[in-house]
Amino acid sequence: PVVLGVESSCDETGFGIVSEGKLLGQGLASSASKHAEFGGVVPEIAARAHLDAVVPTLQIALKDAGVEPKDITHVAATSGPGLATAVHVGLAAAKSIAWALDKPLYGVHHLAGHAAADTLEHGPLPEHSIILIVSGGHTSILEVRDLVRDPIVHLGDTLDDAAGEAFDKVSRLLGLGYPGGPAISKAALEGDREAFRFPRAMLRAGDHPYTFSFSGVKTAVARTVEQIERTGAAVPVADIAASFEEAVVDVLVTKAVKACQEKKLSTLVIVGGVAANRHLRAKAQEQCDKLGIELRVPPPSLCTDNGAMIAAVGDLLVRSGAEPSGLGIAADPSAVLHGAQLPVPA
Ligand code: ATP
Ligand code: MG
Ligand code: FE
Repeated sequence: PVVLGVESSCDETGFGIVSEGKLLGQGLASSASKHAEFGGVVPEIAARAHLDAVVPTLQIALKDAGVEPKDITHVAATSGPGLATAVHVGLAAAKSIAWALDKPLYGVHHLAGHAAADTLEHGPLPEHSIILIVSGGHTSILEVRDLVRDPIVHLGDTLDDAAGEAFDKVSRLLGLGYPGGPAISKAALEGDREAFRFPRAMLRAGDHPYTFSFSGVKTAVARTVEQIERTGAAVPVADIAASFEEAVVDVLVTKAVKACQEKKLSTLVIVGGVAANRHLRAKAQEQCDKLGIELRVPPPSLCTDNGAMIAAVGDLLVRSGAEPSGLGIAADPSAVLHGAQLPVPA
């Protein structure tokens, strides 16, 4: 198969072309700079930007892959979760392409896409692994067998904010802008990770071992900033960024590694936008090396949203013999991750 993947669930418009597990080429546009002044993604702005970007970005992907439209054998698109108006644009584009080319269409779960991104760099996933998804809207520890064939088991999710959301909110608090992850990470390079001891929620005995909560650390940062501002002193932005990053990474790595140990699984895969974080990658590598766990993390450009990861899921679905979703697939903005393909509404 030569599978075209379409992604538009948030502020990235992505097209990727994947064949037999190999990325042939891709195109990516982002409206992130248009949201910066608002401190977060504005859905209407994102949807309009997708509309402007779909055709040129598709053309870039085709050119990059050296593929003609007639060479495409299957189309896959994110049908959820995500911002409703944003998902609709990419899904409608994917339907149009599939209809025009008379090729089958698959509706893909965006988070399965994040997981599949790693296969484009490191090859097929092992038969059984722990996957930590850390993104702008989700933070989950999953036990995964065959990503496209088997049901996906959630060992734990976040009770409130996602890890990426915490980065974005703390970044706004510190005046570092959107998206927050890269901004915090950069500021943290100059800071002292031990300057402040921010809370590590859900790490005590008795807490659910795989459940996360990140609203407390955000509130703790807000209170710290307020207290310092009240004294008239300058806010030590770098130290706060570094200490915040340390607290979040500590919780993520501790819980993910614990899941590998308790489930006796020797591969940990970390995916999603926050997996681009250098400190997270380094800390996870350190812990995994100590415990003999193989760590797999996609390159940063495949961690954040892109079309290649959706094409990767499509390619896996096609090769596993999955039935196409068809043109009746609907956007499901709040889809829960049970499987890689989203069901078609009855
Ligand atoms: P979801 O995948 O849950 O639907 P999303 O698609 O908006 O959400 P992603 O594109 O996977 O999220 O990731 C974006 C998030 O990743 C943002 O919250 C951003 O701040 C965060 N992020 C990106 N780069 C980094 C980094 N270097 N360090 C920490 N966080 C980062
Ligand atoms: Mg984004
Ligand atoms: Fe995402």
